[in-house]
Amino acid sequence: MEELAAWGDEVRVAERRIIQALERGEDVGAVMHSDDPDEEIVSFPLAVMLAAAVGDKWLQKRLALYESRRVEAFLSGEDDGVLEAVWTDLGLKAGRCGPDEAERTGFPYKISVADYLRLVKGIDGAEWRLVNRTVWKGWVYVTRRELIRLIAEEVESRILKRLEELKVSKIPDPIKETVERIRGMLATRFARALPKAEDSRDETRWPPCMVALKNALLSGSKVGHFGNFAFASFLLSSGYSVEEVVAFYSQRPDFNERIARYQVEHIAGLRGSRTKYSIPSCQTMKAHGLCVEEGRLCPRGIRSPRQFQYLTRRQRSGSGATEQ
Ligand code: SF4
Repeated sequence: MEELAAWGDEVRVAERRIIQALERGEDVGAVMHSDDPDEEIVSFPLAVMLAAAVGDKWLQKRLALYESRRVEAFLSGEDDGVLEAVWTDLGLKAGRCGPDEAERTGFPYKISVADYLRLVKGIDGAEWRLVNRTVWKGWVYVTRRELIRLIAEEVESRILKRLEELKVSKIPDPIKETVERIRGMLATRFARALPKAEDSRDETRWPPCMVALKNALLSGSKVGHFGNFAFASFLLSSGYSVEEVVAFYSQRPDFNERIARYQVEHIAGLRGSRTKYSIPSCQTMKAHGLCVEEGRLCPRGIRSPRQFQYLTRRQRSGSGATEQ
C-alpha cells in the first residue's frame, strides 16, 4: 500500500479509472485513461490498491467488472496471436480449432470443460449452460466472442481475488485525500435511500426466496436475469414504485440506470405489450434454483411467493383458507 504514496500523476489517473468504473460499470468500450501508455499501465494496479484502501465491496466489484469489460472490448479488436497470448498468460486451457475440427463442430475455438464450467458461473443465459453446448473430448466449443467473454470473466475473478488479498492496515497520508474523495462520491451515489419497509411492504414478512434475492443484490453478488425479474415483479406487486425498485437495482455492480428503468417499467406493464408481469410461481422459482431450502421455511401448500404473507398470517391465526 505504501507504493501508492510514491506515485503522483499515476494516482490521479488511477482515481480517474475508479470514477469511470463508478459512472460506467460494464457500459464501457476500449477507453483509455491517459495519453501516456506507461501511466495507463501503472494506473491499473494503483486503481486496484486505491479500491482496496477505500474498502467498499460494491466499488471493488464495480471496478473488477469495468476492467474486465474493457479487456473484452480491447480483445475484440485484436488478432488471434494476441488472443492466444492472453489466454495462455491467464493459464486458460483453450485453443483454435483446426480446419477439420472447425468444420465438424461449427466453432472456431475451444476451451477445456473445467475452465468453461468455472468461468461460466458468472454468466447468465440458457445458451451458456453446458447442456446447450457442443462438447467433445473434454472441450467446449465456442465462438470468438464467447471465448473473449470467458477471458473477461477470468480477468474479473483475478481482480476480485487480488482485492481480497490486499490488506490495508493504514492508508498512507499522501493518498488519504484521494481515498476520502472516492468515499464521498460513493456516499453521494448511495444517498438515494432504499425504500422504507412499511405495511404490506414489511420486509420482515417477505418469503425466504425474496429475502435471499434482496441480500444478493445488496451485497453486489450476481443475480441472474430470472432472479432480477422475479424480484422486480415481487416488489412491484408489493406496492413499490418503479423508482423504488430501480433504487434496489442500483446496488448491482453492473447497474445501468437507463437499462434498469426500462426493464422495470416493462415488468410493470408501462412499456411494450403493456402487460404487467406476475410473480413467478414457486414451481418456476424452484426450476430456476431460486427457492430456499425447497420451501421448507414456507407454509405448506404455498404456490407463489406472493402468498407467503397471507398464508403465514392465516397459519398464525389458525385458519386454513388460501389466497389465489
Ligand atoms: S416455497 Fe415459494 S415462497 Fe417459499 S422460498 Fe420457495 S419459491 Fe419462495
